[in-house]
Amino acid sequence: MGQPLHLTGTIVVGDAAELDECWVVDGRLTLEPPAEPVREVEGWVLPGLVDVHCHIGLGPEGAVSVEEAEVQAKADREAGTLLVRDAGSPQDNRWVQQRSDLPRLIRAGHHLARPKRYLRHYGRELDDVAQLPQAMAEEAASGDGWVKVVADWIDRSEGADSDLRPLWPADILAEGIAAAHEAGAKVTAHAFSREVVDDLLDAGIDGIEHGTGMTADHIAEAARRRVPVTPTLLQVAHFADFAEQAGSKYPVYAARMRAMHERRYEQVRAFHEAGVPLLMGSDAGGTIAHGSLPAELAEVVRAGVPVHDVVAAASWRGRDLLGVPGIHEGAGADVVVYAEDPREDVSALARPRAVVLRGELY
Ligand SMILES: [Zn+2]
Repeated sequence: MGQPLHLTGTIVVGDAAELDECWVVDGRLTLEPPAEPVREVEGWVLPGLVDVHCHIGLGPEGAVSVEEAEVQAKADREAGTLLVRDAGSPQDNRWVQQRSDLPRLIRAGHHLARPKRYLRHYGRELDDVAQLPQAMAEEAASGDGWVKVVADWIDRSEGADSDLRPLWPADILAEGIAAAHEAGAKVTAHAFSREVVDDLLDAGIDGIEHGTGMTADHIAEAARRRVPVTPTLLQVAHFADFAEQAGSKYPVYAARMRAMHERRYEQVRAFHEAGVPLLMGSDAGGTIAHGSLPAELAEVVRAGVPVHDVVAAASWRGRDLLGVPGIHEGAGADVVVYAEDPREDVSALARPRAVVLRGELY
C-alpha cells in the first residue's frame, strides 16, 4: 500500500453532499486522520467515473490480445474511469479483476447476437434463436450480474427494403430475459430501432443501450419503471457514416440512420426531461478508443443535459445504480481529482490532476 493521502478542497459525495477533507489509508477512504505522514492532494475530488458501456478485450476485428486489453483498461483508468460495467466482450476478461492496477470491472459475459445480424467477431452468435434463453442463463452464470443482448440490427435479406429488425421473436426474448433474471442477473440490450423497444419493456428489460429509436411513450415508460438508458452519443455520431456506407443499396435503413443521427441531441434531452435514469457509456472497444468517457460526457452536455446531472450520472449516481459505493467511510478509495469543478465545466473531466484507484495514486 502506498503512503496515506490527505484529500482536501471539495470532496463531492453526492448531489448536495460535500466534505472539506478526507483521508486514504490502506486503500480505503476514512474521515479519521492517520498517525503516519500523509501526502497532500488538493482539488475537486469525485467518486471514480463509471463507464457502463465499455468493451475491454474488443477491438475493430473482434477479440484482442490480453496485452492489448491491458492497454485499453489503462487508458480508461487514465481518463478517470475506475468502474466499468462492460457491455459484453469476446475476450474472457476475468483476469482484469485480479489486477489491482486496473479499473474495477462488472462483467456481462459475451454479448449475444446472431450470424450476419451484428458486427462480425464481436458477439456470441447463436445459429438458432431458440437457443437464446439457454445462452442468456449461461452468460448470467459467467458474468457478474449483467447479461447483454443485441436486440436489433439491419437484416440485409430484404434487398432495398432492408432495415433495422429485431433479432429475436418477442416471446423468445421474453423467455431469455426471464432466464437471466432467474439466474440472478439483470439484462441490458442494444436497441437502435423503435420496433424492438416494446418487446424489451414488455419483457422487463433492466437497461437500454443507445435508445435512439425510443418514442415519447417509450421514454415515459422507461422513466416510470426507472429503466436506465445509456445514450452513447459518440457511437450515435457514427450513424451518418453507417448511412453513407449503406448508400443506395439499403436506402430505407440509410434514411432511418440519418434521421436518428440528426435528432440525437434532441433524443438525449428528451430522456433527461422525462426523468429517465441516465447511465454514461463510451462504447469504447470496437471502433471507439478507450479513455473516451470524458468526450462522451461532453457530448451529453452539448445535447442539453445539465452538466451537474451528466457528472452525477457518470460518478455517484452511476455507482449507486450499479450498487457500488462512492465516497463513504471505509469504502475502497477510488476517486478522481480535478483542478477545476467538473460540475461547472465538463471539459475539466478531460484533465484529471490525479487518479486514485484502490488507494494507489496515479
Ligand atoms: Zn457496444
